[in-house]
Amino acid sequence: MTKANYHTHTYLCGHAEGLPIDYVQKAIELGLEHIGISDHGYLKDKWVDRMNLEEYHNIYLPNIQEAKEKYGDKIEIFTGLELEYLDGYDSLYQKYYRENDYLILGQHIVEVDGIEYDLYKPMNDSLIIAYKEAVIKGMESGYFKILAHPDLYMLRYREWNDLTEKIAIEIIESAIKNDVYLEINGNGTRRAATFTKDLELTWLYPRVEFWRIVSRYQEAKVIVGDDAHYFAHLHDLAVTNAILFAKKMGITIYDKIL
Ligand SMILES: [Zn+2]
Ligand SMILES: [Zn+2]
Repeated sequence: MTKANYHTHTYLCGHAEGLPIDYVQKAIELGLEHIGISDHGYLKDKWVDRMNLEEYHNIYLPNIQEAKEKYGDKIEIFTGLELEYLDGYDSLYQKYYRENDYLILGQHIVEVDGIEYDLYKPMNDSLIIAYKEAVIKGMESGYFKILAHPDLYMLRYREWNDLTEKIAIEIIESAIKNDVYLEINGNGTRRAATFTKDLELTWLYPRVEFWRIVSRYQEAKVIVGDDAHYFAHLHDLAVTNAILFAKKMGITIYDKIL
């Protein structure tokens, strides 16, 4: 089992439990040596499932600071955020980059012609292309250390084809070029599975065809992220399965990266 996890949410996003310090305590119990808190960060007012700026400043950052002071001798604690990458928010990205130890790019929303589409709704060719363009722009911005669930575009697209293959290659090569870690996501391995065309069992994400391509790139850097929304998610069976999946694929997992 790995000794680090950098993908941890809190109650502030509205779809998870607990404060940063609660996850820190749980991580110490589990014997982790590194814990990164990375709740969904604010970009826009109308979004649900994100903390607002006031909560970020008045609850989130102070609570992580408190955890660092209280438990910093037992575990290394890192302040982070998981963010979408959208045009027009550069000053916010700069601010977050300054105020955090690391940022995770987690693209759940794409904008096409000013309209937002979320990745949990049915996808089509132009939307998965928009996804690819957004994450590549995000990685090129230099703000992000980790690309969470890079294969999330397969969640509601399902069929692996020439386009999904091409998108995978472009994302992987951009991650290598921009020195971004690709994350095998534990929240994917907690979710539904399906079959590939060759009747191979795969999660919707991590998607077996995607990570098989990753395995061909020696230079690609890969981590497993717990994506914990509940205390019980920290280094749970889904995370073990994600690690075993990487092993089976011949992918080396990085552990402590900060
Ligand atoms: Zn979440
Ligand atoms: Zn996510």
